This record gives sequence, structure tokens and C-alpha cells, in this order.
Amino acid sequence: MSSSTLQTDQPESRLIDRFGRQVTYLRISITDRCDFRCVYCMGEDMVFVPRSQILSLEEIARVCRVFVALGVTKIRVTGGEPLIRRGVVELLQELGQIPGLAELVLTTNGSRLESLAQPLRAAGVRRINVSLDSLDADKFRQLTRVGELQTVLAGIEAALAAGFERLKLNAVILKNRNQAEVPRLLDYAIARGIDLSFIEEMPLGQVEGHDRAEEYYSSDAIRRDLAQNYRLLPVADTTGGPSRYWQVEGTQTRVGFISPHSDNFCGRCNRVRVTAEGRLLLCLGNEHSVDLKGILRAYPGDDTVLRTALIDAMQIKPERHHFDLKEAPVIFRHMSVTGG
Ligand code: SAM
Ligand code: SF4
Repeated sequence: MSSSTLQTDQPESRLIDRFGRQVTYLRISITDRCDFRCVYCMGEDMVFVPRSQILSLEEIARVCRVFVALGVTKIRVTGGEPLIRRGVVELLQELGQIPGLAELVLTTNGSRLESLAQPLRAAGVRRINVSLDSLDADKFRQLTRVGELQTVLAGIEAALAAGFERLKLNAVILKNRNQAEVPRLLDYAIARGIDLSFIEEMPLGQVEGHDRAEEYYSSDAIRRDLAQNYRLLPVADTTGGPSRYWQVEGTQTRVGFISPHSDNFCGRCNRVRVTAEGRLLLCLGNEHSVDLKGILRAYPGDDTVLRTALIDAMQIKPERHHFDLKEAPVIFRHMSVTGG
């Protein structure tokens, strides 16, 4: 069956794993490159994948179309830094038109948002997550190694002006690095009516310069810190994802906690990832994967094999991750490769 004959307007729910979990959410990394070098995400000197090994924009769109035809309703475009890839706006425009795709969202470090926010909104992107770990320019520079805080803040203002349905900030909190910034980040989010998620660092890839176990700062500790000045009301609705949300009383802001260590969220996992090289990853914390690039390139213009591979891949989706900060990382790929 060719891609043109796939029933994309009547998606099937075919992506169901051995534990009865249905995959409805795809996170796809469109580049492993980045203009930042965040200390928890990358080494200072990264070797990136040769361009010929990266999926083309056409291949990315093809993978997304087949996923949607199999029941995926939400796609997050990520990286590396997705907004540094040439043609990203056109790609998002194409993805935004896939029949059956309910949500097209993006995660970015915000460095290019000031000029791209409007075109992205026009392309059909509904929600954006912007990573922001500090509101102190020096600390921001230390954490990202090269990032300019003011550029990112200007990007966030541009995104607010562009009228996305929802903006969310993501902050990875490290003990004794940016832990003291938690209330300030929340005040910033409240003043703009946007959401904020705090993320516990995950042991993905080797990073030099800090000890992950020593710098671990738990979601519970953050919640305790916040309870001194804010009333957090539990929100019943979860997005089916790893975040647990709390409404900050008297504000429009919800605070989320992504806590791979203190709250195992695998039982409600509804997602898979595709790396920039076209490797389908069934779990962030395991290496079970399928090479989609080989299939895409071996069968141009015929999606039958790709479709079967995606359905079959559900059989190897692991039950859960086994992250342990005290052990040497067992996952050697960095988050930038995985598509965070
Ligand atoms: N470059 C974009 C950005 O920074 O938003 C998108 C890709 S980045 C890999 C996606 C998210 O992963 C960011 O919010 C980042 O903070 C988070 N991240 C990266 N490495 C991480 C790690 N080791 N543990 C937890 N979160 C991590
Ligand atoms: Fe780049 Fe995002 Fe990783 Fe930071 S977290 S180095 S911005 S990919």
C-alpha cells in the first residue's frame, strides 16, 4: 500500500503494547545539534551525527504521517535545538496539515524564538515548551555554557505576543546550582500566566563537570520549598504523561513535576521517540529500538513495511525505565540525541 492510499483520515488504534498501553504521542528529534551546551544534557565538545545520517525533512514528514495513520494524535518536534534546522517552519507547516493530528507542539531553548514565534504559530504549532533554568544571566550562562538569557527572554515575549494556546517553561533543577531560583522562576511564570515544569535530571549520556547524584534535587524538595510561599492545589487531570500538575492558587499558572526518580510514571506511558537518525526508541530509559531510516530508504514510496515495523515495535516496548543516579549511566545517548 503506498502512502497515498493509507487511510490517514481514519486513524486506527494499532499501536498497543504488551502492557495494554496505547501509543498516541510521538516525540521526534529533527536534529541532534544545538547552539547551547547545557551541562546536564551535553558534553562541552560534542561530536554530532554526520548530516547524511540524519533523516531528511521529507523522511521526517513521512514517518509522522504513518504514525498518525496508526493512531498517534500528538506530535512534539524537538532535538537538539529544533529551531536551528533549516526548513523547520516549512516542516511544521506540513505536519500541521496531517489529517487526524490533533496537537502539534514544540520544545525549544528559545534562542531563535524572537524571529520564529509568529511563523511557527502561523504554521499550526499550538503549544510551545521553552527551557529556562535560571533568570540570572551569569547562572544561565553557566548552565547552558554559551546561552544568552536576554535572547531567550525576548523569545518568550515574542511567543506570548504570537498567541500560542499555551506556553510552558521547563526547568531542570540542580542542587546548589539553580535550586534557589525556583521561586523566582515561578513568579516569572505567574506574571505571564504561563505554566512551569520542574524536571529531575536523568542520567542520559556522560556529562563532565558535575556529579549527577550529588546535584540531584527532588521534586518533593522543590514542592516543599514552594509551599512556604504558595498554595499548590492538586490538579486531577494528568496529560497522560510523566508530569504531575498543581494549580498555584489564585493564578493561571500550573506547576508540573517530572520526577523520574521519585515518581515512576511508566505505567501511564503513551509515547515513543524517534531520534534525528531515525531510530525508533520505545523508552527513554532503555535501548530497545528499531532502525526506521533503513526501512525509509529501502522502501521509498511504499509505507507498508514501515507501518508493519511500527506495529511490531510495540512488542518490544519495555515496561519501565531503571534510572539510577548513583550508577554509571547505562544509557549512553545524550538527551539531545534522544529528543527530550
Ligand atoms: N533544545 C531544546 C530545549 O532545550 O528545550 C529541546 C531539546 S532538550 C533535550 C528537551 C528538554 O530536555 C529540555 O527541557 C532540557 O532541559 C531537558 N533535558 C536535557 N537533558 C536532560 C537530562 N539529562 N535530564 C533531564 N532533562 C534533560
Ligand atoms: Fe541544547 Fe536543549 Fe540540550 Fe540544552 S537541553 S544542550 S538547549 S538540546
